[in-house]
Amino acid sequence: SDNDHTTEGEPGALRTPIVAVLGHVDHGKTSLLDKIRGSAVHEGEAGAITQHIGSTAVPLDTISDIAGELVDPDDFDLPGLLYIDTPGHHSFSTLRSRGGALADIAILVVDVNDGFQPQTHEAMDILARTGTPFIVAANKIDTVPGWNPEPNRPSKVAIESQSDRVESDLNERLYEIIGQLSSKDISADMYWRVQDFQSNVGVVPVSAETGEGVPDLLTVLMGLSQRYMKDEMAIDVGGPAAGTVLEVKDTQGFGTTIDGVIYDGTIQANDTIVVGAKPNSIVTEVRALLQPKPLAEIRSDEEFEQVSEVAAAEGVKIAAPDLDDAMAGAPIRVVRDRDTSDVVDLVQQELADIEVSTDDD
Ligand code: GDP
Repeated sequence: SDNDHTTEGEPGALRTPIVAVLGHVDHGKTSLLDKIRGSAVHEGEAGAITQHIGSTAVPLDTISDIAGELVDPDDFDLPGLLYIDTPGHHSFSTLRSRGGALADIAILVVDVNDGFQPQTHEAMDILARTGTPFIVAANKIDTVPGWNPEPNRPSKVAIESQSDRVESDLNERLYEIIGQLSSKDISADMYWRVQDFQSNVGVVPVSAETGEGVPDLLTVLMGLSQRYMKDEMAIDVGGPAAGTVLEVKDTQGFGTTIDGVIYDGTIQANDTIVVGAKPNSIVTEVRALLQPKPLAEIRSDEEFEQVSEVAAAEGVKIAAPDLDDAMAGAPIRVVRDRDTSDVVDLVQQELADIEVSTDDD
């Protein structure tokens, strides 16, 4: 049934890499996420994407459908990609775990007309500080004067079918961005010229409006994850969950709840959890685990359904007493068969290691 989101099943399973989208305001972060979701849904089959709390899961088969011949699902064993729905570097910088970033990989969106702007620099600083691998989505390529739309095609193909003037106009903008990256000591190139994505950042020309480059973007993300992050994606599915608070909010009928992302293990509906808070971390019992109801089943005001467990990597809304002091960015840990005080120490230590910012964007 749809209640069973724990598709990654066995111990030693590989979880879905978590992807964040960053960049300057108006450069197209929201539009790009919408386009990725839209392309997935357009592919038709049920289960093309799964809307979680605060995130969207795009399974490998759907990525493969969107990417066409660019992705052969047999080449991959990671289950897909999980996109954090709230774009922006503020939410990103607070979503830190284990001294790194919650996101395993990031898309830095840069408007080809606008180049690097203050929040682009800020985003890059956060990526450098957290050591998060990223690719650059050079967005709005459809706005180059004279652009001839090739909706949803790979951008390499779409660019080849433009006039020489449009192509050189676009190239000029793209090399401007590559130059700006190199002045920050980042070696970057067009993604199709990058051999080693660990030492070079790939630039993917895209349009969040007409969809050119979305297939290549997903392909590069998937390839990068598979090639360089497979070891980190190996999780203990049956173990006690580790996660991060995305948001603390009131949910009708449940009082104060936390929306979080689980990136390791499993959380169950009767677990004791520790949630990072100041001055003291919260120790509480889960009252309910909630996930969005599939769209077709939403009746009356029942937006969420209760599930018995949630496994990494997924979003979940947790209802429990005493969550008022929980903070965005703070750790969530299931106690299970450990000493509660040990887990509290762990959470306090982690909280001390990260700076949890509480101001708004
Ligand atoms: P965000 O602030 O980074 O999330 O940016 P938005 O996604 O809200 O986009 C800002 C504006 O740029 C909106 O009006 C979008 O419709 C527009 N936009 C975003 N991406 C593209 C694109 O690829 N092409 C064009 N023509 N417009 C875009």
